[in-house]
Amino acid sequence: MKTVVIATNNLNKVKEFQSLFNNDNIEFKSLKQIGYEKEIIENGNTFEENAYIKASQVAKDLNVTAIADDSGLCVYALNLAPGIFSARYSGTGLDEDNNKLLIKNLKGISNRNAYYTCAISICHPDGTHLEVTETCDGIIIDDARGSNGFGYDPHFYIPEFGKTFAEVPLEVKNKISHRAKAIRRVSELINEDFSFK
Ligand code: IMP
Repeated sequence: MKTVVIATNNLNKVKEFQSLFNNDNIEFKSLKQIGYEKEIIENGNTFEENAYIKASQVAKDLNVTAIADDSGLCVYALNLAPGIFSARYSGTGLDEDNNKLLIKNLKGISNRNAYYTCAISICHPDGTHLEVTETCDGIIIDDARGSNGFGYDPHFYIPEFGKTFAEVPLEVKNKISHRAKAIRRVSELINEDFSFK
């Protein structure tokens, strides 16, 4: 059994990895479960850089394989903002404030095309690493709809479903989201990787 540390304290992310990986040879642990308390400063300029900063630091410090993700919303008409600043767009860190600012900044703008991005970095203790980025397209609508999900989901409308990400059941979001796609791709790569056999 190989231990892989998910560089997050979010237990839902650990569960998401475990369920999508389908590999009995890997045991996923969160930073908390492994007793890692060091703060990692995410000062990269891209989602990919931030994911790599987290995964490489944990892999080096603990001498294990580590996986980290970084995700966010990119809106074309706003020069791809909020981007890597998605969690702290409004400055308060509250979803409600972030959403208000997003809609305010889009006032009078007809191009509402947007996408969520998820970058995942997998770093081995020997310094080798893999990167995956996946996206999910949608449209930003003014009125919030639905109560599932989190973050910008009530305003992120998927034309194909005629619903926002906060209206579709979580099982559906977990099939089509940027994060689900990225985790699936990582699981394919990891299952092909000889060092995990
Ligand atoms: P994290 O890197 O996964 O913690 O996400 C950073 C921020 O991006 C979150 O705080 C949200 O504002 C936004 N975000 C990322 N993924 C999603 C999603 O699936 N739905 C809604 N917001 C998201």
